[in-house]
Amino acid sequence: MRPASLLTVSLILLLTACAPTDAIRSMPFDAGTTLVSTVEEFDKAVSALQPGDTLVLANGTWTDAELVFKAIGQPDNPIELKAEQAGKVIIKGQSNLSISGSHLIVSGLVFKEGFTPTSEVISFRTSKNDLANHVRVHNTVIDGFSNPERYSADTWVAIYGKNNTFDHNSLLNKGNRGVTLAVKMTTKASQENGHVIEYNYFGPRQTLGSNGGETLRIGTSHYSRDYSNTVVQHNYFDRTSGELEIISSKSCGNIIKGNVFFESQGTLTMRHGHNTLVENNYFLGNGKPNTGGIRIINEYQTVKNNYLYGLTGHRFRGALVIMNGVPNSPINRYNQVVDSHMLNNIVVDSDHIQLCAGSDAERSATPVGSSMHNNIIMSKTNLNPFTVYDDVSGISFQGNIVNDEITVPINGGFEKVPYSVSENRHGLRVPAQHLIDGISFGEVKLPVAKQDTGASYYPKPGPGKKAPSNNTIAVTPGTDTIVAALKNSGPGDTLLLENGKEYLLKKFAVVNHPITIKAKSGGKAIIRSEKSTFFTIENGGALVLENIWMDGSESPDTAGNNVISTSRYSMNQNYSLAVRNCKVTDLDVNHSFDFLKVYRSTFADSIEIRDTEMSNVSGTILSLAEETDDLGMYNVENLDIINSKFTDIQGPIAHVYRGGTDESTFGPIVRVHGNEFKNAGHGKRNKTGASFKFHGVQNLNISDSTWLNSSPLALHLSNGEPITIIEDVVMDGTANIVANNDQYKVRNISYK
Ligand code: CA
Repeated sequence: MRPASLLTVSLILLLTACAPTDAIRSMPFDAGTTLVSTVEEFDKAVSALQPGDTLVLANGTWTDAELVFKAIGQPDNPIELKAEQAGKVIIKGQSNLSISGSHLIVSGLVFKEGFTPTSEVISFRTSKNDLANHVRVHNTVIDGFSNPERYSADTWVAIYGKNNTFDHNSLLNKGNRGVTLAVKMTTKASQENGHVIEYNYFGPRQTLGSNGGETLRIGTSHYSRDYSNTVVQHNYFDRTSGELEIISSKSCGNIIKGNVFFESQGTLTMRHGHNTLVENNYFLGNGKPNTGGIRIINEYQTVKNNYLYGLTGHRFRGALVIMNGVPNSPINRYNQVVDSHMLNNIVVDSDHIQLCAGSDAERSATPVGSSMHNNIIMSKTNLNPFTVYDDVSGISFQGNIVNDEITVPINGGFEKVPYSVSENRHGLRVPAQHLIDGISFGEVKLPVAKQDTGASYYPKPGPGKKAPSNNTIAVTPGTDTIVAALKNSGPGDTLLLENGKEYLLKKFAVVNHPITIKAKSGGKAIIRSEKSTFFTIENGGALVLENIWMDGSESPDTAGNNVISTSRYSMNQNYSLAVRNCKVTDLDVNHSFDFLKVYRSTFADSIEIRDTEMSNVSGTILSLAEETDDLGMYNVENLDIINSKFTDIQGPIAHVYRGGTDESTFGPIVRVHGNEFKNAGHGKRNKTGASFKFHGVQNLNISDSTWLNSSPLALHLSNGEPITIIEDVVMDGTANIVANNDQYKVRNISYK
């Protein structure tokens, strides 16, 4: 410690005695401790810091604070930057923190309600050459600190330098593009770094609808032949569903162990680099869609003693995946799997194990010198979990156990035993104990509990979606009563309309939060609008319409009206729309009157039309084709059109566009079931020439539907292996399906 001046001590005593402000009283002031309340005070104090000093940010809100913490501590005498009280320093607006120097400790800060004006929120460097070494950041939070421009990329935490520790932090609700936490290896000074990333809580991350939604990335393809030697352990990944890769290891020598992946859509991927160990991680998919496990690419990888339960993902998102490589692969493609091993893992009720995944004309190098030994695979959810895409003779199979019902398309190396899965005392579904003992797995128990991760003071979202509010607001018929009710509503409220009564909108009905607008079942309330749009869903909004009749007869006589529109501006929060038991009529006062109009940089988790009838529409029902740059973005993840009837629709019923060639997203996922389409898609302004146009949809299922005198169904199948199934369909007076290739399955289709 720096010797305290008498003056400082006396002053502190004096302040403590007679200036009882909370800020001063709560601080155990001693020599070398400085409390600052503004960025100017902070900067001044930083320039004077000596080993052993503590710099304290005063409780309260810090707005537009770009903090540059540059100091040199000593191994046994670090310099600390902390909140006066952990969790009570809220950093908002256009703010960030950059750190360089050595032997520094940062704790207790909360970043929320803003975003970084630079490309990083917490950066372990202050300039290209001023890096952080031996720096610890802990007990800190970044929550929803997302650029409002959805596809404007930033990284929340970028770790440069060497020997840094990032622990017990909470990172949740990233809405915009960009990795949540990245280990950067851009110069030698950041390689072989020995960073430790542990006990962090990675909270929910919504589906991005594009590449760039990784939660953790170590390295990049450019530096992937270099060693990072980063340890990632005892972290909790809670519904981190941004994209295909939850963790993307793109460097060598990393250890990823003892982490929990709870209902996260995506996989732990050894995308580039070699010699990485993946051990004792627990994947709890719980049957949720697109939950995945571990994917091996490259050389000398070891995947052992992991537990994987209830994972439904297929292809690259399988529970266990070994990829094919590209011969003499360029650095950014896929190296061949060489001497890599998948050992002693337990896989329960998971749907897919994929070997030589990605095999195609380019990815033709099959795995060599690799093994799959002593894994226990028990499943009743899919009795054909293995897919073998290519020659597996370079993988040795030994001592694996599967239940009797499973079909194994591999000769030797698998023993069949009765299915024996039960819940153990830790609440996990496990095979019989003698089987677990047989592979020396040890106790099947989560390696870290959710409550032992993250910032101690910061709440973690519970399982499931927020409980809907029970608040119902009765709306009297008349003009703009819905507009007023929306203004007075809260998230999750229901606006209850009267059956058979008319509601007129002279203003836009703006939806800023989740809301249900309905009439009692058995009838319908009628809504008309004098504006170009009935409802606009703004950022944070979501809309359910039930038992509503929407009619276009009062709409303005101009082209391009619509019933529902997204924000015209970027939305960094996903929305949803459900239309149930509704009726839509006469959207035809002028041309191009759409039902739903979406704008660029908006994304729906789900759009559902169910038990609904629509007729006389001069535009498109669902126009979901605004991301036309072919960069892998799109407008909707799940689209369902169920048990509905569409008559005299000039545009297509749905136009969904997902361009680009990357394979980093699950969606769009589309289901069309139990519908009738009559005279659909014949309008002269319908540029698709189709009743439906699906471009780049990853999973399409059309069933039990009838087309009458309509334009054809148009398919453009792209990106990996999209699943396209069309079954029990009648095309009466409707031309044959138009498609770019024949990679779709048709069962029981009749043309009349
Ligand atoms: Ca990715």
